[in-house]
Amino acid sequence: MTTQSSNSDCVDPQTARQFYIDGRWSLPAMPASVTVINPATEAVVAEVACGSEQDVDRAVAAARAAFAGWSVSSPASRAHILGKIHELILERKEILAQAISLEMGAAISFARAMQVPLAAEHVRVARDILSTYRFQTLEGSTAIEREAIGVCGLITPWNWPLYQITAKVAPAIAAGCTVVLKPSELSPLSALLFAQIVHDAGLPPGVFNLVNGSGPEVGGAMAAHPDIDMISITGSNRAGALVAQAAAPTVKRVTQELGGKSPNLLLPDADFAKAVPAGVMSAFRNVGQSCSAPTRMIVPRDRLAQVEALAAATANAIIVGDPQSEETVLGPIANEAQFKRVQVMIDAGLSEGAKLVCGGPGRVAGHEVGFFTRPTVFSEVDPGMRIAQEEIFGPVLCIIAYDSIDEAVTIANDTVYGLGAHVQSQDLQLARAVASRIRSGQVLLNYPAWNPMAPFGGYKRSGNGREYGVHGFEEYLETKAIVGFGV
Ligand code: NAD
Repeated sequence: MTTQSSNSDCVDPQTARQFYIDGRWSLPAMPASVTVINPATEAVVAEVACGSEQDVDRAVAAARAAFAGWSVSSPASRAHILGKIHELILERKEILAQAISLEMGAAISFARAMQVPLAAEHVRVARDILSTYRFQTLEGSTAIEREAIGVCGLITPWNWPLYQITAKVAPAIAAGCTVVLKPSELSPLSALLFAQIVHDAGLPPGVFNLVNGSGPEVGGAMAAHPDIDMISITGSNRAGALVAQAAAPTVKRVTQELGGKSPNLLLPDADFAKAVPAGVMSAFRNVGQSCSAPTRMIVPRDRLAQVEALAAATANAIIVGDPQSEETVLGPIANEAQFKRVQVMIDAGLSEGAKLVCGGPGRVAGHEVGFFTRPTVFSEVDPGMRIAQEEIFGPVLCIIAYDSIDEAVTIANDTVYGLGAHVQSQDLQLARAVASRIRSGQVLLNYPAWNPMAPFGGYKRSGNGREYGVHGFEEYLETKAIVGFGV
């Protein structure tokens, strides 16, 4: 595989047509490929092998064979290899950033500053957990042992392609599990580079396997596979539910990180001049393609005009364009299907009567090619509107007015989702009290720094299970009680 950092040659075409199974690159059982499109130019950038049930069988057999040894390897030896993987991600950070920019349109500055370093953090955290984690504890005379659950099927989306991979692979192999990874077929390039990193780090054959391909075929075969013990999917609610259904007959553990419609509550005493611009940028980060993006800004009714002005000024100043330009803040939406979905939702906002504050339908002026979407802010959004209820997954912010804090909390919780939430207030006691009333897996007070140890996952239809830190690591463990262990 090439390691040069030129944009168009991130991944060797021969490698892209293969899978990484049992410690080596090998051809798929049946020749088939999926085309990867650069969303900034709409040009074809790669043909990537598209797998079948037979490829999944081969990968699962390799993972099963490797499990016997890897699951009883010492935590120190696993930490050592995770340390090597971490080093190699940092060493190859430029080519990884280029691949991510190419496959899903991330602005190169964002890929360099966020997509790659945060992905590396999940590996570092998994390595560090192994130095202190107690795999055996005592409850009276009973020993509680935490053991690797087995072979894990990992299915990841396109929006944070490398980050979602390391958030699953690192804790799984740290726990002693072996894995079969199926990245999104829409953004599989950084995954191919990651497989080479894992190989170069010296991970034993079969511990990590990569099969590219479509969700229904490869992901479906993994979910139903009798020799996979656990499946972890990050993606849409539709795919998450289908995976759970396919997994049910074999009673495997299912972890789902799914959609979100996260609220951002600006309490009356918030510093609006800071909180509104920061909220807009937070909602539009990664072109709004983050499951926990705070896309519902809930503000006091008497501050609505001020909030609209601040939001419009912030959104209108965002530079949208060529992801390769250093000054670009937002590149295109990651793929055509998502671009179309976002356009449908902007049209829905208009037809339902929300007030368009800035942005709107269509491509960014001057970009007839590429899925460049106008940063769009709606105000006077009714909590019942589609744009307030459905995940849009694009740069579209809804401003919703409230008359009391109780009403603000009700609006925040008026969603089938429960992934993230923000609260802004200069009174920390008040912010904490409001946070305790919000039904979501994370609540962020006053835009804190990202914490890779903070568990991440959903209440309600945002999913089951947690990722990141010790909680994410423990998802990959079984619990065994040895009763009568002590005297
Ligand atoms: P998607 O559901 O289309 O695809 C996600 C993955 O699931 C892909 O690898 C896809 O091939 C696979 N898949 C699709 N159908 C499948 C099936 N029937 N069986 C097995 N696998 C299947 O989602 P996407 O468009 O790639 O990602 C966007 C979605 O992901 C959004 O809804 C977003 O909120 C969610 N997401 C959630 C989190 C989180 O941590 N909660 C993080 C990122 C993205």
